[in-house]
Amino acid sequence: MPGRREVLRNRGGTSVNAVEGIVAKLRASGQRMTASRRATIEVLVASGNHRHLIAEDIVGEVRVHLPDVAESTIYRTLSALEELGVIIHVHMGHGPSTFHLADDTHQHLVCQACGTVVEADANFFQALRTKLRDRVGFDADFRHFAITGTCAACSAKSAG
Ligand SMILES: [Zn+2]
Ligand SMILES: [Zn+2]
Ligand SMILES: [Zn+2]
Repeated sequence: MPGRREVLRNRGGTSVNAVEGIVAKLRASGQRMTASRRATIEVLVASGNHRHLIAEDIVGEVRVHLPDVAESTIYRTLSALEELGVIIHVHMGHGPSTFHLADDTHQHLVCQACGTVVEADANFFQALRTKLRDRVGFDADFRHFAITGTCAACSAKSAG
């Protein structure tokens, strides 16, 4: 993806600010900043939370710009960002987990028939979360795993 930096700038600077905000957090926590770390953050921000990248995809996209970066370096950056609470990993089903910026709170609904990922507003789950906390004393983290089921299209197909 040549010219990705330009694309980020053209988007009114929001993505650039998001990158700089994360860089500042890493620095404030005493972590050193490197070109590969910055590139990893840029890939995460540019993915915009709706592409659901697995670690392997992130490695591939970082290497477009920095072909020599070791996979383990990128994995360590992902762990550092997760420890800082900047990103979370989400299990969409079987297979490797995907990465999200932590401030995007949508819940994933994955169709077991066709694999489509539907994004649902986190508010749908707030009432259930409160109920579980009040009645069971359990603080549920719905985002960690996707909810599996059948999407509207597949339901319509099997009903028809
Ligand atoms: Zn998502
Ligand atoms: Zn489906
Ligand atoms: Zn997990």
